Amino acid sequence: MTDYDVIVAGAGTGGATTAYTLAKRGHSVLLIDRKEKDNIGNKTCGDALGSHHITELRELVGIPELPAGIVEYDVNGIDLISPDREHRLRMQGPTTTGMSFNRLKMGQWFVGLAESAGAEVQASTRVKKLVFDAGKVAGVRLSKDGGPEKEITSRIVVDATGATGMLRMQLPESSPVERNIAAEDRMVAWRDIYETPEFNFETPDILEIFWNQEETLGGYTWVFPQGKNRVNVGNGVMTIEGHRNPKDIQYDFVKKTWMDKWGELKVIDSSGGVAPIRRPIDTMVDDNFMLVGDAACQVNPIHGGGIGSSLLGGAHAGIVASEALEKNDTSIEALWDYNPKYHKSYGSKQAALDVFRWFLLNITNEDIDFAFRKQIIKASDLLDTSMTGEVKFGAGEKFKRLVAGFGKIPLLLRVSKVAGLMNDIRRVYREYPSSPKGLSAWKEKLVPIYAAAKEA
Ligand SMILES: Cc1cc2nc3c(=O)[nH]c(=O)nc-3n(C[C@H](O)[C@H](O)[C@H](O)COP(=O)(O)OP(=O)(O)OC[C@H]3O[C@@H](n4cnc5c(N)ncnc54)[C@H](O)[C@@H]3O)c2cc1C
Repeated sequence: MTDYDVIVAGAGTGGATTAYTLAKRGHSVLLIDRKEKDNIGNKTCGDALGSHHITELRELVGIPELPAGIVEYDVNGIDLISPDREHRLRMQGPTTTGMSFNRLKMGQWFVGLAESAGAEVQASTRVKKLVFDAGKVAGVRLSKDGGPEKEITSRIVVDATGATGMLRMQLPESSPVERNIAAEDRMVAWRDIYETPEFNFETPDILEIFWNQEETLGGYTWVFPQGKNRVNVGNGVMTIEGHRNPKDIQYDFVKKTWMDKWGELKVIDSSGGVAPIRRPIDTMVDDNFMLVGDAACQVNPIHGGGIGSSLLGGAHAGIVASEALEKNDTSIEALWDYNPKYHKSYGSKQAALDVFRWFLLNITNEDIDFAFRKQIIKASDLLDTSMTGEVKFGAGEKFKRLVAGFGKIPLLLRVSKVAGLMNDIRRVYREYPSSPKGLSAWKEKLVPIYAAAKEA
């Protein structure tokens, strides 16, 4: 007999959604967070989310309407700005319609949902260690308010501890779950919120993304207005050798963009953060164990958004865990279905965008400026790619436009190559094994695709 059916470590959006889904289905759930209860949800963020994520979650697990006060401003599009800042592409569509929200209130709401569905929430409590019984996960050791460690058992433990994946790292070497994330698959970020009383954002409902390979290699700088006189500004870069410190990048950006005109800005909040930016972990389950959210690398590798996908991951994990508990079988085989379910809804697109990330790393500011100038890139193509994870080469207008880039034939060939690789990886994800037995052979199929992507 265990203390709980499920222990969820980490009460961010991913963990809280898992706990909500399970508690709503009548399972006993302990949801643990190291933060004080009133502070759960407070984290470094761009504070932006596509509305479709909330709709998808509602369809999957039936959450109520977002209460008033969480959404602060509507978002109606995203502008992508070229490195020379002379061109911008406005993307407007279902994936770019959303909200700028209050991060703390959003986090609190999700924890409240889990609690009202019946999950027990234990805050100010740090999960320290995974507990094993006969080599299989059987619970955790935790410490409340820095007090003595205590052991709690459960039939399933969910690691939703965010980018550290601190329980995932404690799995034994024999586990099929990858324990460590390569540095190059992580983004480091810096984010400030400024008040700009001297300056009005004319289109506060449009988010801005500044693309500049010399400043933010493998990433970008975001300028997300929060009303007319407040703005959330940050940048994230891939953690590759020689990358610049995002805080320094931020200073240079803000100086060039605003400070030279208006002097010092009033800083309301400043902090750094980390996020994984790769395909999801190849198996997000082991015996009695599941991964959700950043701990499972469920983050969009191109824009670094991970709230929506953590909600999706949490819902799928909760549904599969519930079915496994009802069958009284929480083995890796019984939990396996979580992998293909997540891959089908988001993971395969994430993998395709991971391949695209490597291509983007190797293009220059000159290439990007050229593509904007010649209108080789169109907003509709970018929206399409962000929706589907596909780069399509049609006949007709689009093909002519691409050929108009004949002055850059090598660039065109590389785009064509990466489009092929993105399709290849999506095909490999469609062949995701139906049981753990096929995992090693499946992983082998990813190797040549990544090798080619890194050269593209
Ligand atoms: C700078 C930055 C900006 C971002 N902006 C956006 C954005 O605008 N939109 C978007 O969609 N995504 C954004 N993201 C990504 C997004 O924040 C994450 O993908 C998302 O929060 C993941 O949710 P999660 O529940 O997996 O993890 P988290 O939200 O990180 O939650 C993990 C929880 O686990 C708790 N925890 C950790 N360790 C322990 C422990 N040992 N014991 C107990 N509790 C523990 C933490 O206190 C935390 O509450 C951004 C990320 C960064 C770094």
